[in-house]
Amino acid sequence: MTKNIIEVKNLTKKYKENIAVDHLSFEVKEGEILGLLGPNGCGKSTTINCLLSLLTINEGEIKIFDKKMTPNAYDIKQKIGVVFQDVALFDELTVIENIDYFCGLYIKEKEKRKKCIEDACKLVGLEDYKKYYPKQLSGGLLRRLNIACGIAHKPSLIFFDEPTVAVDPQSRNHILDGIKRLREEGATIIYTTHYMEEVELLCDRIIIMDQGKIIASGTMDEVKALAHNHEKISVQIMNLEEETKEKLLKKIQKLQGVIAASFENHTLLITAENGTEILETLMDRLKDFNISYQHILMMPPTLNDVFLELTGKELRD
Ligand code: ADP
Ligand code: MG
Repeated sequence: MTKNIIEVKNLTKKYKENIAVDHLSFEVKEGEILGLLGPNGCGKSTTINCLLSLLTINEGEIKIFDKKMTPNAYDIKQKIGVVFQDVALFDELTVIENIDYFCGLYIKEKEKRKKCIEDACKLVGLEDYKKYYPKQLSGGLLRRLNIACGIAHKPSLIFFDEPTVAVDPQSRNHILDGIKRLREEGATIIYTTHYMEEVELLCDRIIIMDQGKIIASGTMDEVKALAHNHEKISVQIMNLEEETKEKLLKKIQKLQGVIAASFENHTLLITAENGTEILETLMDRLKDFNISYQHILMMPPTLNDVFLELTGKELRD
């Protein structure tokens, strides 16, 4: 059994009458990347700030490394790395000096620190920018430096709060690869984002939040199984008479497991509970109607489908 690194019970945080985090309970297991996914304002940053004891909580219990988390729990804090949503760096210091400063808060020995800084630079691909000042760096490189500063002391538990917002694709890849590497090296990671593709790429388990509450959690497959609209099928059919379209649609809509079917220009769109079974029947029907098609695509449900089904709104903002 993998042990829990974080245990949260009934965590509630209010800003005056606004409940930002509403009775949240969850665990984070050793060595996993847990994705905290949800739209802007759903409470991700507040949750992280509560876990770090940066905010006083209204209700609940937080345990990290099997100990109660408090503002003075320096033994716990020593083993934590945080990469905040907003970049915080010293403009007067170079890349290396910035990392050295933050790393120096944890590691006193100069030689040991040098190695840590070297590793951190490598992890996010900043080797060629060591002598640069923040002002000389692009937004993506600043983000990478912000990460290097947060993880250089080799913490065993790391919080990343939306580290890829407004970042160019190259920096984004560096960041995601770096985070995967940190997990390979044994770190436990909490990753917040409102980009579901990142969660799919990176996370072992996810928690989907909306309005301060957990609305779904589990592995990617477990969460996706919550979407009843399981699969989407699209078939491109050219030169089809309106009359035939209607007849075909009627047949398809009657098939068991089909939730919706419609035509959008030359594309037949079907949402179904069991795509694979429907696909076979669909091909037979097309044959019956003597219809030839250009191509067929079957798409598994996305996290957005799950979110849409559970909340009635799109995850994208
Ligand atoms: P997320 O990180 O998911 O975008 P936040 O945790 O920042 O969400 O915000 C959750 C809710 O709490 C939002 O309604 C936000 O407006 C509110 N909130 C966040 N920080 C503060 C604050 N310092 N004072 C008052 N309300 C806040
Ligand atoms: Mg936030």
